[in-house]
Amino acid sequence: MDSLIQASYFLAALLFILGLKKMSSPLTARGGIIWAGWGMILATGITIFLPNMDKITLIPNLDLILVAIAIGSVIAWVTAKRVAMTDMPQMIALYNGMGGGSAAAIAAVELFQAAGPESGHGGANLSLAVIGGLIGAISFSGSLIAYAKLQGIIKKPGRFPMQQQVNFLVFAAAVALGLMIVLDVHSVSLVILMFVIALAFGIMMTLPIGGADMPVVISLFNAFTGLAVGFEGYVLGNIAMMIAGTVVGAAGTLLTQLMAKAMNRPISNVLFSSFGGGDGTGGEEVEGSMKATDTADAAIMMAYSETVVIIPGYGMAVAQAQHKVWELADKLIDRGVRVRFAIHPVAGRMPGHMNVLLAEAGVPYDLIYDLEDINTDLPNTDVVLVIGANDVVNPVARTDPSSPIYGMPILDADLAKNVLVIKRGQGAGFSGIENHLFFKDNTRMVYGDGQEVAGDLIQAMKEV
Ligand code: NDP
Repeated sequence: MDSLIQASYFLAALLFILGLKKMSSPLTARGGIIWAGWGMILATGITIFLPNMDKITLIPNLDLILVAIAIGSVIAWVTAKRVAMTDMPQMIALYNGMGGGSAAAIAAVELFQAAGPESGHGGANLSLAVIGGLIGAISFSGSLIAYAKLQGIIKKPGRFPMQQQVNFLVFAAAVALGLMIVLDVHSVSLVILMFVIALAFGIMMTLPIGGADMPVVISLFNAFTGLAVGFEGYVLGNIAMMIAGTVVGAAGTLLTQLMAKAMNRPISNVLFSSFGGGDGTGGEEVEGSMKATDTADAAIMMAYSETVVIIPGYGMAVAQAQHKVWELADKLIDRGVRVRFAIHPVAGRMPGHMNVLLAEAGVPYDLIYDLEDINTDLPNTDVVLVIGANDVVNPVARTDPSSPIYGMPILDADLAKNVLVIKRGQGAGFSGIENHLFFKDNTRMVYGDGQEVAGDLIQAMKEV
């Protein structure tokens, strides 16, 4: 029986790893999610059923476990089906928090048992339970705050003087309590206090972080959750948990690093500075004025170009304009224009947001370029069409050292020969700062909802 269990866990681990591998390309990502999902079903099934198949009595609380799984599955299925693409980051934050919370709950059960009168625990397992519990609790409460920020429930970063010092003390207190528990676990109230302080630290560390940095923070918490699950896997002696936790921990760490790199900011700057949430003012004075044009002129400009690069952003997701944008691109391609799409790594509100939308609309992958592959071509491009993007094409990131986004690599749309910008009005981007691109002489604003304007451009193109 034992070898069957181990073989099944090995198969589950294989499914996780192969699933993750498939997720690295948009072509295979959907399949990757399904593979990893089967891995999870297999791992859960083995854990609950196999160890008891040769016993007449059932695992304790099996009925409660099955009810919990049923309720959780229904909630997850319904919410995942209903969630809007634009709300996906919140959902990821929420579910990531659940993972951290589960790891912390496992640690709590182990530690309560160890602290109880019939304690047989100790040694390495206890340390791992404490470490996993601390990390899981921080990830749980921190992810919930990240969710509340992205959902607009918490609107402003919560800051106060000496915050970093206070946060450090709270963190040190949680670690000190953890050490005390490892050295001499005898008090349930000490265990409870450690969890309360760890939960408080998760909240306090996330509150001051600006909204624009939430994706990086969520990815960091994702790494935390993975680590916590991995540690608790060791505590329970569950190989599938160890492997799944380690894989998630490693993937989350790499994603955090990649995103911080995409913004050209060290992780410490993301965690301890307060980026985002500005009021659209500040920084260098803007010269010039925004110049509007209509869809007929914009269509003529693009139709008679040799090269057009389309830069989508968060507004395209809000407007659900991806299908119309691809239809427009297709019309241009039919006319012999070379059309490409340029994607900034943090465009939209989650990693890969634009890739997902363009893939959904059927845009061929060979027309989609990453920032580093297309930026050098933008100065030779006849028309750059920016649709619902703002921060990711803001040239102050290159030119204004006082700007909060200074140093973030951007798509150099401003260097193109002509720029068309589709947006509804004067709304700022996520960072809240003014975009100097919109005021440049070679930029024309096409005001309106992304989907409507793209539809009008398609109509206008038919008449060119
Ligand atoms: P921005 O949020 O900077 O700008 C979006 C623009 O879209 C706004 O200026 C808005 O202007 C316009 N817009 C909104 N709705 C519509 C609509 N229906 N039709 C047309 N335009 C519309 O988007 P970017 O993609 O350029 O930048 C992403 C930002 O979000 C970055 O600062 C990034 O750090 C941050 N972020 C990224 C995450 C990620 O993982 N990708 C996650 C969370 C934040 P107007 O109101 O005038 O229409």
